[in-house]
Amino acid sequence: MGRPWMLLLLLVAVASAERLFVGDQVIRINVESEEQIQALQALESQEEWKLDFWLHPVSADLPVDIRVPRSSLDSVTEYLQAHGIPFSVMIDNLQELLDQERAEMVQNQRMERSTRSFNFGAYHRLETIYSWMDSLVAQYPKLVSKQEIGKSYENRSMYVLKFSTGGNKRPAIWIDTGIHSREWVSPATGVWTANKIASDYGRDASLTSLLDSMDIYMMLLTNPDGYAYTHSNDRMWRKTRSRNPGSMCRGVDPNRNWNAQFGGPGASRNPCSDSYHGPSAHSEIEVKNVVDFILSHGNFKSFISVHAYSQLLMYPYGYSCSAVPDARELDTVGRAAVQKLTSLYGTRYKVGSICKIIYQASGGSIDWSYNQGIKYSFAFELRDTGRYGFILPANQIIPTATETWLALKHIMEYVHKNSY
Ligand SMILES: [Zn+2]
Repeated sequence: MGRPWMLLLLLVAVASAERLFVGDQVIRINVESEEQIQALQALESQEEWKLDFWLHPVSADLPVDIRVPRSSLDSVTEYLQAHGIPFSVMIDNLQELLDQERAEMVQNQRMERSTRSFNFGAYHRLETIYSWMDSLVAQYPKLVSKQEIGKSYENRSMYVLKFSTGGNKRPAIWIDTGIHSREWVSPATGVWTANKIASDYGRDASLTSLLDSMDIYMMLLTNPDGYAYTHSNDRMWRKTRSRNPGSMCRGVDPNRNWNAQFGGPGASRNPCSDSYHGPSAHSEIEVKNVVDFILSHGNFKSFISVHAYSQLLMYPYGYSCSAVPDARELDTVGRAAVQKLTSLYGTRYKVGSICKIIYQASGGSIDWSYNQGIKYSFAFELRDTGRYGFILPANQIIPTATETWLALKHIMEYVHKNSY
């Protein structure tokens, strides 16, 4: 690589304060033994190499994906070879993918401005999503309303879209997207889904009948500060942006911060970790706002949280591998939902409890909601299975949202028919 190019990159980086990932690779390891898992866990606790585990080493059934900074490539390769662990390179130069993603966004913005339209097959900044929400409300005023449930740490509004045909605190379904800010396909799917609900009401018989007796609430950007930060500074940011007293590292993992076995296994006490649970349960204002909203409403029957990536549909618990009382029913609903999802493009999903199909993780949102008596609590991990990971190309947004809708709709219909 030539020097002038490096200089240019450096200037761009200084000007925009944006973190670059030039030469960073994402490597995949198909774990073969318990010893390999232990060696990878040791690697994970090694802070010097600044590794970013996209998928953590937990069981021999699941791959491990690691973003390795360019400066650590040699050391990591050596370490893996010394432990006899084979790996493959999924992303050769992360910055190239990010540059492409950014170029597509810029091009799309131009197109949207000139055609005065909104492209559901593109990634958008927070402000654009917020103003799109207003246009949805304006287009469907009898069905859709927007409600601010509080402010984020950095004082951004947190909005829910309410889909309702009337009544007072009808039985309701909650869907949140974007709680982990780098999982961009999640809010992008949320936006498409919100539009789908609004436009299908009165056309689709089952959705119409559901909305005649139930409400749907959607929170599209559950971690607004983190989301804004992924656009302005660091595309790989996952957590909130709160300050941690006594630490240089900012942010708490908002999906380890709920009052469900808070601080237990599968969450970190280290403020610099991407799965830091925070100083106390609901310490994050973003989490507390949702908790207060759900509790004050008091009539939610389903709580669905949407993440990426890995193609999983999960139910509680994360904090324990023992089965919840409703495990069999949730498993059946989940499998049927996934069957519908797969029927569209053949995208394969796994179904199971969080603890059993990914790993033990405490302080998660759907464990909290389930323990509040919201039986139909589910979490999605959307596309893909690691080819692009968090940098899923925008041309997969609409296919992802369309297939996911079939699963969401199945769950919602089930909840509608099985009132409790
Ligand atoms: Zn996530």
